[in-house]
Amino acid sequence: MSPARHTVKSLMRTGILAEALAAIQRNEPDTLDVQAQLCETPAPPFGEGERAAAMKRSFADLGLAEVRTDDIGNVIAVRRGCLARPSLVLSAHLDSVFPVGTDVRVRRKGNVLAAPGIYDDCRGLAVLLAVARVLQQLTIETSDTLIFVATVGEEGEGDLRGVRHLCQESLDGQIDRFISIDGVGNELNHIGIGSRRYRMEFFGPGGHSFRNFGNANPAFALGDCLTRWSKVKVSKNGRTTFNIGRIGGGIGINMIPSEVWFEIDLRSTSEKTLKVLEHVLDESSLQALHRENSRCRNHGVISLQKKLIGSRPCGATPASDPLVQCALEASMALDLPLELKQGSTDANVPMGMGIPAISISGGGSGKGSHTLAEEFDCTDSWKGSQRVLLLTLMLAMSER
Ligand SMILES: [Zn+2]
Repeated sequence: MSPARHTVKSLMRTGILAEALAAIQRNEPDTLDVQAQLCETPAPPFGEGERAAAMKRSFADLGLAEVRTDDIGNVIAVRRGCLARPSLVLSAHLDSVFPVGTDVRVRRKGNVLAAPGIYDDCRGLAVLLAVARVLQQLTIETSDTLIFVATVGEEGEGDLRGVRHLCQESLDGQIDRFISIDGVGNELNHIGIGSRRYRMEFFGPGGHSFRNFGNANPAFALGDCLTRWSKVKVSKNGRTTFNIGRIGGGIGINMIPSEVWFEIDLRSTSEKTLKVLEHVLDESSLQALHRENSRCRNHGVISLQKKLIGSRPCGATPASDPLVQCALEASMALDLPLELKQGSTDANVPMGMGIPAISISGGGSGKGSHTLAEEFDCTDSWKGSQRVLLLTLMLAMSER
Protein backbone atom coordinates (compact mmCIF):
# COMPACT_ATOMS: atom_id res chain seq x y z
CA MET A 1 0.00 0.00 0.00
CA SER A 2 1.35 3.43 -0.90
CA PRO A 3 1.84 6.06 1.83
CA ALA A 4 -0.95 8.58 2.38
CA ARG A 5 -1.02 11.55 0.01
CA HIS A 6 -1.13 15.07 1.27
CA THR A 7 -4.25 17.18 1.19
CA VAL A 8 -3.90 20.95 0.89
CA LYS A 9 -4.67 21.14 4.63
CA SER A 10 -2.05 18.62 5.68
CA LEU A 11 0.47 20.24 3.37
CA MET A 12 -0.26 23.58 5.07
CA ARG A 13 0.90 22.08 8.34
CA THR A 14 4.32 21.29 6.89
CA GLY A 15 4.92 25.02 6.53
CA ILE A 16 6.59 24.59 3.16
CA LEU A 17 3.46 25.21 1.13
CA ALA A 18 2.93 28.93 1.75
CA GLU A 19 6.61 29.58 1.08
CA ALA A 20 6.61 27.56 -2.15
CA LEU A 21 3.45 29.19 -3.51
CA ALA A 22 4.76 32.65 -2.70
CA ALA A 23 8.05 31.85 -4.43
CA ILE A 24 6.47 30.68 -7.67
CA GLN A 25 4.24 33.76 -7.73
CA ARG A 26 7.27 36.00 -7.14
CA ASN A 27 9.10 34.21 -9.96
CA GLU A 28 6.26 34.66 -12.46
CA PRO A 29 7.86 37.62 -14.34
CA ASP A 30 10.91 35.40 -14.94
CA THR A 31 8.67 32.54 -15.95
CA LEU A 32 7.13 34.81 -18.60
CA ASP A 33 10.58 35.81 -19.85
CA VAL A 34 11.54 32.15 -20.14
CA GLN A 35 8.27 31.48 -22.00
CA ALA A 36 9.09 34.24 -24.50
CA GLN A 37 12.71 33.08 -24.95
CA LEU A 38 11.61 29.52 -25.61
CA CYS A 39 9.05 30.79 -28.12
CA GLU A 40 11.78 32.70 -29.97
CA THR A 41 13.79 29.47 -30.20
CA PRO A 42 11.99 27.84 -33.15
CA ALA A 43 10.73 24.26 -32.85
CA PRO A 44 9.05 23.35 -36.14
CA PRO A 45 7.56 19.85 -36.56
CA PHE A 46 10.42 17.30 -36.63
CA GLY A 47 12.90 20.11 -35.89
CA GLU A 48 12.77 20.52 -32.12
CA GLY A 49 16.54 20.23 -31.56
CA GLU A 50 17.32 23.85 -30.77
CA ARG A 51 14.51 24.25 -28.25
CA ALA A 52 15.38 20.85 -26.78
CA ALA A 53 18.95 22.04 -26.23
CA ALA A 54 17.65 25.17 -24.48
CA MET A 55 15.50 23.05 -22.13
CA LYS A 56 18.43 20.74 -21.44
CA ARG A 57 20.61 23.72 -20.47
CA SER A 58 17.86 25.11 -18.23
CA PHE A 59 17.38 21.79 -16.42
CA ALA A 60 21.13 21.54 -15.88
CA ASP A 61 21.38 25.18 -14.72
CA LEU A 62 18.72 24.45 -12.12
CA GLY A 63 21.01 21.78 -10.73
CA LEU A 64 18.91 18.77 -11.70
CA ALA A 65 21.30 15.87 -11.64
CA GLU A 66 20.32 13.41 -14.31
CA VAL A 67 19.64 15.34 -17.49
CA ARG A 68 19.67 13.55 -20.83
CA THR A 69 18.19 13.46 -24.30
CA ASP A 70 16.71 10.13 -25.30
CA ASP A 71 16.96 8.44 -28.71
CA ILE A 72 13.97 10.24 -30.19
CA GLY A 73 14.86 13.71 -28.85
CA ASN A 74 12.87 14.02 -25.60
CA VAL A 75 14.73 15.86 -22.84
CA ILE A 76 14.51 14.08 -19.49
CA ALA A 77 15.60 15.39 -16.08
CA VAL A 78 15.24 13.36 -12.91
CA ARG A 79 14.87 14.74 -9.39
CA ARG A 80 15.21 11.83 -7.00
CA GLY A 81 12.85 11.58 -4.05
CA CYS A 82 13.53 9.71 -0.83
CA LEU A 83 11.89 6.76 -2.56
CA ALA A 84 12.63 5.47 -6.05
CA ARG A 85 8.93 4.84 -6.55
CA PRO A 86 6.33 6.01 -7.07
CA SER A 87 7.45 8.33 -9.82
CA LEU A 88 5.62 11.32 -11.19
CA VAL A 89 6.25 12.59 -14.70
CA LEU A 90 5.65 16.28 -15.39
CA SER A 91 5.83 16.99 -19.10
CA ALA A 92 5.27 19.64 -21.74
CA HIS A 93 5.85 19.45 -25.48
CA LEU A 94 8.67 21.09 -27.43
CA ASP A 95 7.18 21.13 -30.92
CA SER A 96 5.02 23.82 -32.47
CA VAL A 97 2.86 23.47 -35.57
CA PHE A 98 4.73 26.23 -37.41
CA PRO A 99 7.10 25.48 -40.29
CA VAL A 100 10.74 26.53 -40.55
CA GLY A 101 11.05 30.25 -41.26
CA THR A 102 7.97 31.38 -39.33
CA ASP A 103 8.52 34.71 -37.58
CA VAL A 104 8.43 33.71 -33.91
CA ARG A 105 9.53 37.03 -32.40
CA VAL A 106 7.40 37.85 -29.36
CA ARG A 107 5.58 41.19 -29.28
CA ARG A 108 4.54 42.42 -25.84
CA LYS A 109 1.76 44.88 -25.24
CA GLY A 110 0.70 45.30 -21.63
CA ASN A 111 -0.24 41.87 -20.37
CA VAL A 112 -0.38 40.33 -23.81
CA LEU A 113 2.46 38.37 -25.40
CA ALA A 114 1.90 37.62 -29.07
CA ALA A 115 3.78 35.11 -31.23
CA PRO A 116 3.12 31.77 -32.93
CA GLY A 117 3.51 29.07 -30.26
CA ILE A 118 3.61 31.51 -27.32
CA TYR A 119 1.39 29.30 -25.22
CA ASP A 120 1.16 26.01 -27.13
CA ASP A 121 3.30 24.80 -25.58
CA CYS A 122 5.91 27.34 -24.46
CA ARG A 123 3.68 28.07 -21.50
CA GLY A 124 3.83 24.41 -20.48
CA LEU A 125 7.62 24.32 -20.83
CA ALA A 126 8.01 27.54 -18.80
CA VAL A 127 5.75 26.25 -16.02
CA LEU A 128 7.68 22.98 -15.98
CA LEU A 129 10.89 24.93 -15.34
CA ALA A 130 9.16 27.22 -12.82
CA VAL A 131 8.09 24.24 -10.73
CA ALA A 132 11.56 22.68 -10.83
CA ARG A 133 13.10 26.03 -9.92
CA VAL A 134 11.05 26.45 -6.73
CA LEU A 135 11.74 22.88 -5.62
CA GLN A 136 15.46 23.53 -6.09
CA GLN A 137 15.45 27.06 -4.58
CA LEU A 138 13.75 25.91 -1.41
CA THR A 139 15.51 22.51 -1.42
CA ILE A 140 12.18 20.79 -0.98
CA GLU A 141 12.57 17.09 -0.36
CA THR A 142 9.89 14.92 -1.94
CA SER A 143 9.20 11.30 -1.18
CA ASP A 144 8.37 10.47 -4.79
CA THR A 145 10.82 10.76 -7.65
CA LEU A 146 9.97 13.55 -10.08
CA ILE A 147 10.79 13.23 -13.76
CA PHE A 148 10.63 16.41 -15.83
CA VAL A 149 10.22 15.81 -19.55
CA ALA A 150 10.10 18.01 -22.64
CA THR A 151 8.68 15.84 -25.44
CA VAL A 152 9.05 16.00 -29.20
CA GLY A 153 6.30 15.31 -31.73
CA GLU A 154 3.06 16.09 -29.92
CA GLU A 155 1.42 18.03 -32.71
CA GLY A 156 -0.22 16.79 -35.91
CA GLU A 157 2.00 14.48 -37.90
CA GLY A 158 4.36 14.19 -34.95
CA ASP A 159 1.57 11.84 -33.85
CA LEU A 160 2.72 11.72 -30.19
CA ARG A 161 5.95 10.01 -31.20
CA GLY A 162 7.89 11.58 -28.33
CA VAL A 163 5.58 10.51 -25.54
CA ARG A 164 5.11 7.09 -27.14
CA HIS A 165 8.86 6.54 -27.13
CA LEU A 166 9.07 7.87 -23.58
CA CYS A 167 6.41 5.54 -22.19
CA GLN A 168 7.30 2.48 -24.26
CA GLU A 169 11.11 2.77 -24.38
CA SER A 170 13.01 5.44 -22.42
CA LEU A 171 10.94 5.17 -19.22
CA ASP A 172 9.16 1.90 -19.93
CA GLY A 173 7.71 0.55 -16.70
CA GLN A 174 9.04 3.46 -14.66
CA ILE A 175 6.08 5.84 -14.77
CA ASP A 176 3.46 5.73 -12.02
CA ARG A 177 1.67 9.01 -12.75
CA PHE A 178 1.80 11.41 -15.64
CA ILE A 179 0.87 15.08 -15.94
CA SER A 180 1.01 16.88 -19.26
CA ILE A 181 1.08 20.68 -18.98
CA ASP A 182 -0.42 21.85 -22.24
CA GLY A 183 -2.36 24.83 -23.47
CA VAL A 184 -3.77 27.94 -21.93
CA GLY A 185 -6.31 28.71 -19.22
CA ASN A 186 -7.11 26.54 -16.25
CA GLU A 187 -8.39 23.36 -17.79
CA LEU A 188 -8.19 19.89 -16.40
CA ASN A 189 -8.58 16.94 -18.77
CA HIS A 190 -8.92 13.39 -17.57
CA ILE A 191 -10.28 11.91 -20.80
CA GLY A 192 -8.10 11.53 -23.87
CA ILE A 193 -9.86 11.91 -27.19
CA GLY A 194 -8.52 9.26 -29.53
CA SER A 195 -8.14 9.77 -33.25
CA ARG A 196 -7.38 7.93 -36.48
CA ARG A 197 -6.29 9.72 -39.62
CA TYR A 198 -6.36 8.08 -43.01
CA ARG A 199 -5.35 8.98 -46.51
CA MET A 200 -7.61 7.18 -49.01
CA GLU A 201 -6.21 6.87 -52.53
CA PHE A 202 -8.28 5.83 -55.54
CA PHE A 203 -6.48 4.70 -58.68
CA GLY A 204 -7.85 4.22 -62.22
CA PRO A 205 -6.73 3.64 -65.81
CA GLY A 206 -6.59 7.36 -66.65
CA GLY A 207 -6.88 8.40 -70.29
CA HIS A 208 -7.76 11.28 -72.60
CA SER A 209 -10.89 13.15 -71.60
CA PHE A 210 -12.37 12.89 -75.13
CA ARG A 211 -10.85 9.79 -76.72
CA ASN A 212 -11.15 7.63 -73.59
CA PHE A 213 -14.49 8.93 -72.44
CA GLY A 214 -16.23 6.15 -70.55
CA ASN A 215 -13.14 4.93 -68.73
CA ALA A 216 -13.59 4.34 -65.03
CA ASN A 217 -12.86 7.61 -63.21
CA PRO A 218 -11.54 7.49 -59.63
CA ALA A 219 -12.89 11.02 -59.05
CA PHE A 220 -16.42 9.66 -59.31
CA ALA A 221 -15.62 6.93 -56.77
CA LEU A 222 -14.14 9.53 -54.44
CA GLY A 223 -17.16 11.81 -54.86
CA ASP A 224 -19.54 8.94 -54.19
CA CYS A 225 -17.59 8.02 -51.06
CA LEU A 226 -17.72 11.61 -49.74
CA THR A 227 -21.46 11.80 -50.41
CA ARG A 228 -21.86 8.71 -48.23
CA TRP A 229 -19.85 10.42 -45.46
CA SER A 230 -22.08 13.50 -45.65
CA LYS A 231 -24.95 11.27 -44.51
CA VAL A 232 -23.15 9.55 -41.62
CA LYS A 233 -24.72 10.39 -38.27
CA VAL A 234 -22.89 10.39 -34.95
CA SER A 235 -24.42 11.10 -31.56
CA LYS A 236 -24.70 14.79 -30.84
CA ASN A 237 -22.85 14.80 -27.50
CA GLY A 238 -19.74 16.13 -29.27
CA ARG A 239 -17.62 13.19 -28.24
CA THR A 240 -17.36 11.75 -31.73
CA THR A 241 -16.52 13.73 -34.88
CA PHE A 242 -15.21 13.23 -38.40
CA ASN A 243 -13.77 15.59 -40.96
CA ILE A 244 -12.65 15.36 -44.57
CA GLY A 245 -9.84 17.89 -44.39
CA ARG A 246 -8.02 17.60 -47.70
CA ILE A 247 -8.78 16.27 -51.16
CA GLY A 248 -6.65 16.25 -54.26
CA GLY A 249 -5.48 14.45 -57.36
CA GLY A 250 -5.47 14.61 -61.12
CA ILE A 251 -3.09 16.43 -63.44
CA GLY A 252 -5.10 18.30 -66.05
CA ILE A 253 -8.64 19.24 -67.00
CA ASN A 254 -8.49 17.19 -70.19
CA MET A 255 -7.15 14.05 -68.57
CA ILE A 256 -9.13 11.40 -66.74
CA PRO A 257 -7.30 11.27 -63.42
CA SER A 258 -5.34 8.13 -62.68
CA GLU A 259 -5.13 9.00 -59.00
CA VAL A 260 -7.25 11.01 -56.54
CA TRP A 261 -7.20 11.06 -52.75
CA PHE A 262 -8.76 12.47 -49.62
CA GLU A 263 -7.70 12.66 -45.98
CA ILE A 264 -10.09 12.01 -43.15
CA ASP A 265 -9.80 12.68 -39.41
CA LEU A 266 -11.89 10.52 -37.07
CA ARG A 267 -12.12 11.39 -33.36
CA SER A 268 -13.84 9.93 -30.38
CA THR A 269 -13.52 9.42 -26.66
CA SER A 270 -14.46 5.78 -27.25
CA GLU A 271 -12.16 3.25 -28.90
CA LYS A 272 -15.24 1.21 -29.83
CA THR A 273 -16.80 4.13 -31.68
CA LEU A 274 -13.53 4.78 -33.51
CA LYS A 275 -13.63 1.16 -34.68
CA VAL A 276 -17.18 1.69 -35.96
CA LEU A 277 -16.08 4.80 -37.88
CA GLU A 278 -13.15 2.89 -39.37
CA HIS A 279 -15.63 0.25 -40.52
CA VAL A 280 -17.80 2.98 -42.08
CA LEU A 281 -14.71 4.22 -43.90
CA ASP A 282 -13.99 0.75 -45.30
CA GLU A 283 -17.61 0.17 -46.34
CA SER A 284 -18.19 3.59 -47.88
CA SER A 285 -15.01 3.50 -49.94
CA LEU A 286 -15.56 -0.08 -51.12
CA GLN A 287 -19.17 0.58 -52.10
CA ALA A 288 -18.14 3.71 -54.00
CA LEU A 289 -15.41 1.74 -55.73
CA HIS A 290 -17.75 -1.09 -56.74
CA ARG A 291 -20.31 1.34 -58.05
CA GLU A 292 -17.82 3.06 -60.33
CA ASN A 293 -16.42 -0.31 -61.44
CA SER A 294 -19.85 -1.68 -62.34
CA ARG A 295 -20.75 1.57 -64.13
CA CYS A 296 -17.67 1.30 -66.34
CA ARG A 297 -17.47 -2.47 -66.81
CA ASN A 298 -14.74 -3.31 -69.37
CA HIS A 299 -13.36 0.24 -69.25
CA GLY A 300 -10.70 -0.18 -66.61
CA VAL A 301 -10.82 -0.89 -62.93
CA ILE A 302 -10.66 1.43 -59.94
CA SER A 303 -8.53 0.28 -57.04
CA LEU A 304 -8.12 1.64 -53.57
CA GLN A 305 -5.36 2.10 -51.05
CA LYS A 306 -5.91 3.06 -47.43
CA LYS A 307 -3.01 4.57 -45.50
CA LEU A 308 -3.02 5.21 -41.76
CA ILE A 309 -1.33 8.61 -41.26
CA GLY A 310 -2.13 9.25 -37.61
CA SER A 311 -3.35 7.38 -34.56
CA ARG A 312 -3.89 8.56 -31.01
CA PRO A 313 -5.18 6.14 -28.42
CA CYS A 314 -8.32 6.88 -26.40
CA GLY A 315 -7.99 6.77 -22.68
CA ALA A 316 -9.41 7.99 -19.43
CA THR A 317 -8.28 8.33 -15.86
CA PRO A 318 -11.31 7.79 -13.63
CA ALA A 319 -12.50 10.88 -11.78
CA SER A 320 -12.10 8.86 -8.57
CA ASP A 321 -8.35 8.37 -9.15
CA PRO A 322 -6.17 10.18 -6.55
CA LEU A 323 -4.45 12.07 -9.37
CA VAL A 324 -7.72 13.62 -10.57
CA GLN A 325 -8.92 14.16 -7.01
CA CYS A 326 -5.70 15.97 -6.05
CA ALA A 327 -5.93 18.11 -9.19
CA LEU A 328 -9.49 19.07 -8.30
CA GLU A 329 -8.48 19.87 -4.74
CA ALA A 330 -5.57 22.01 -5.93
CA SER A 331 -7.93 23.88 -8.29
CA MET A 332 -10.42 24.43 -5.50
CA ALA A 333 -7.74 25.74 -3.12
CA LEU A 334 -6.79 28.36 -5.74
CA ASP A 335 -10.38 29.23 -6.72
CA LEU A 336 -9.89 27.81 -10.20
CA PRO A 337 -12.58 25.98 -12.21
CA LEU A 338 -13.48 22.44 -11.16
CA GLU A 339 -14.80 21.23 -14.48
CA LEU A 340 -13.35 17.97 -15.79
CA LYS A 341 -12.86 17.93 -19.55
CA GLN A 342 -11.46 15.91 -22.41
CA GLY A 343 -8.42 16.68 -24.53
CA SER A 344 -6.03 15.29 -27.09
CA THR A 345 -2.51 15.62 -25.69
CA ASP A 346 0.60 13.69 -24.71
CA ALA A 347 -1.47 12.33 -21.79
CA ASN A 348 -3.43 10.11 -24.23
CA VAL A 349 -0.54 7.67 -24.45
CA PRO A 350 -0.07 6.91 -20.74
CA MET A 351 -3.88 6.89 -20.34
CA GLY A 352 -4.11 4.32 -23.13
CA MET A 353 -1.51 2.22 -21.25
CA GLY A 354 -3.50 2.35 -18.01
CA ILE A 355 -1.13 4.80 -16.28
CA PRO A 356 -3.06 7.48 -14.33
CA ALA A 357 -2.61 10.63 -16.41
CA ILE A 358 -4.14 14.06 -16.86
CA SER A 359 -3.44 17.13 -18.88
CA ILE A 360 -3.61 20.48 -17.19
CA SER A 361 -3.19 23.90 -18.74
CA GLY A 362 -0.60 26.38 -17.55
CA GLY A 363 -2.78 29.37 -16.58
CA GLY A 364 -3.36 32.78 -18.11
CA SER A 365 -5.70 33.10 -21.05
CA GLY A 366 -5.24 33.28 -24.78
CA LYS A 367 -6.52 32.88 -28.28
CA GLY A 368 -5.49 31.88 -31.75
CA SER A 369 -3.69 28.62 -31.04
CA HIS A 370 -2.26 27.00 -34.21
CA THR A 371 -2.48 30.37 -36.01
CA LEU A 372 0.09 33.09 -36.61
CA ALA A 373 -2.05 35.36 -34.40
CA GLU A 374 -1.54 33.31 -31.23
CA GLU A 375 -1.73 35.46 -28.07
CA PHE A 376 -1.14 34.83 -24.40
CA ASP A 377 -2.64 37.12 -21.76
CA CYS A 378 -0.62 36.77 -18.55
CA THR A 379 -3.18 38.36 -16.23
CA ASP A 380 -3.06 36.19 -13.07
CA SER A 381 -1.09 33.55 -14.96
CA TRP A 382 0.85 32.85 -11.73
CA LYS A 383 -2.22 30.95 -10.57
CA GLY A 384 -1.57 28.38 -13.28
CA SER A 385 2.03 27.97 -12.11
CA GLN A 386 0.81 27.69 -8.53
CA ARG A 387 -1.71 25.01 -9.41
CA VAL A 388 0.90 22.75 -11.03
CA LEU A 389 3.27 23.28 -8.09
CA LEU A 390 0.57 22.61 -5.51
CA LEU A 391 -0.53 19.47 -7.32
CA THR A 392 3.08 18.27 -7.57
CA LEU A 393 3.62 18.76 -3.85
CA MET A 394 0.34 17.04 -2.96
CA LEU A 395 1.29 14.02 -5.06
CA ALA A 396 5.00 13.80 -4.44
CA MET A 397 5.17 14.36 -0.69
CA SER A 398 3.70 11.61 1.42
CA GLU A 399 2.47 12.33 4.90
CA ARG A 400 4.91 11.30 7.56
ZN1 LIG B 1 -0.13 21.61 -27.25
